Amino acid sequence: MFKWVRIVRRRIRRRPRPGIRARREGLLRYGEEARGLALSRLEYFNQFYNFKYGTVRIKAQTTRWGSCSSKGNLNFNYKMALLPPHLVDYLVVHELCHLGEFNHSQNFWDLVGKTIPNYLELRAELKSFKFH
Ligand SMILES: [Zn+2]
Repeated sequence: MFKWVRIVRRRIRRRPRPGIRARREGLLRYGEEARGLALSRLEYFNQFYNFKYGTVRIKAQTTRWGSCSSKGNLNFNYKMALLPPHLVDYLVVHELCHLGEFNHSQNFWDLVGKTIPNYLELRAELKSFKFH
């Protein structure tokens, strides 16, 4: 490999990813609030669903509101602390229901619809929120 190629590569690797500082600050500022929200709404809705979930983590993902791992761990974006309560509930129920249906099949949506009947509307509303 030519020397200049290695140098360029090193420079690219060293350059911090855009927004990394903002994400870290956001996590520090809203992380605890988001965590409290996620835990309390999970507990509330799980009185109905009765699923078993693992660790709940708050992350600074750039393009996702939440995710559910195959091990049953739930991740939420710290920005959920900035959402109106009805969208927080939709988000929490969405991830919670992935413990019952690990996909976006009609069965999954039926599960969501048991506690959030207007999920289609809320899904569209959440999508309209931009990540900055
Ligand atoms: Zn999903």
